[in-house]
Amino acid sequence: MDVLQACKAIEKDIIQWRRLVHQYPEIGLEVPRTAELVARVMSDLGIEVRERVGGWGVVGLLRGTKHGKEVERGSGAEGGARKTIALRADMDALPIQEETGLPYASKIPGAMHACGHDGHIAMLLGAATVLSRMRDQLPGNVKFIFQPGEEGAGGARLMIEDGALDDPPVDAIVGAHLGVLWKLARGQVGVKAGPLMAASDRFEIGVRGRGGHGAAPHMSVDPVVVACHICAALQTVVSREINPLSPAVLTVGTIHAGTAHNIIPETCLMQGTVRYLDTKLGNFIADRIRQIATSIASGMRAEAAVNYHYGYPPVVNHEGVTSLVAESAAKVVGPENVCSIEPVMGGEDMAFYLQRVPGTFFGVGSGNPEKGIVYPHHHPKFDIDESVLHIGAAVFVQVCLDFFSRS
Ligand SMILES: [Zn+2]
Ligand SMILES: [Zn+2]
Repeated sequence: MDVLQACKAIEKDIIQWRRLVHQYPEIGLEVPRTAELVARVMSDLGIEVRERVGGWGVVGLLRGTKHGKEVERGSGAEGGARKTIALRADMDALPIQEETGLPYASKIPGAMHACGHDGHIAMLLGAATVLSRMRDQLPGNVKFIFQPGEEGAGGARLMIEDGALDDPPVDAIVGAHLGVLWKLARGQVGVKAGPLMAASDRFEIGVRGRGGHGAAPHMSVDPVVVACHICAALQTVVSREINPLSPAVLTVGTIHAGTAHNIIPETCLMQGTVRYLDTKLGNFIADRIRQIATSIASGMRAEAAVNYHYGYPPVVNHEGVTSLVAESAAKVVGPENVCSIEPVMGGEDMAFYLQRVPGTFFGVGSGNPEKGIVYPHHHPKFDIDESVLHIGAAVFVQVCLDFFSRS
């Protein structure tokens, strides 16, 4: 049976998993209910399940039983072991009150699957179902990585630290994001080798002056004016110091100071975000923020302290694995529906796996204007067209088959 047909045959189950997860969204790293469902479905399929990985993560291991032309890893300590490909889904929801009005809308006030991670779970469980029935055709292992905490908590890093990519070691990793991102039409697959999503760092700048009366600025050091100069000067880091062909963003998102119109405050606090696709830019931008903030402040008789927090690294897709996914996706959706996509400056913690293992992150179009499914990620009316879920599952299955036959 062909892969798409096999996934279509279990579409009901896939949609049911999505709706179950959608009704009980869990935020951040604490996803016990979702993890329990994922673990139960996989163990019912006869997949080896490891629970509580890096907190509430779940890792399933399907050992293929095909003999004959075995796919072996290289010689050395791991020689003789079979190859392993990992498929990854994120499980966390967002702190948003759902406004879709769907019959299976969130039952948890203030929490919603508004990023499509419910669909990611359903697609991967669908792929696990079909692959578990094809075990005798698999000359290697498939690992299913379900992680919490994608939305800022860095769940992927915790999974890796707890061995999600080890024992057996993972040779390639593939993950997908549903949505209207990348302008993909319903059921289209978007691929791109190289950088696809940005590093997302965060900074805080505290400016200390000397407070006083608003009518006597000469007796004070005004941190508000200093902060304004710093904010303006920071805009030149991207526009004047970085190669215009290398995308970067520096946004000051908050400036807080003061209590009344006639008081010069003592301090002013700014916060911002930094995005870039080239890993090497991170240290440079952090250094420039520090130098600009502290030297402007000291030039104006104030003091500035800078905290710079490195967040997710950029998502950088591996050339070979990306072309594998493009070929596999073409078998499922037709070559005309495999699109090459442009990078976006959003962040994704898939990046952590891709730092360790060659792999790729691809898009699956799940919008549908005819059904009113047009809202962006993180919107209270965000939805996915469920008719694409079995297609995404089929791409994952086909990728696994092609990975072993190509190896
Ligand atoms: Zn999101
Ligand atoms: Zn997401």
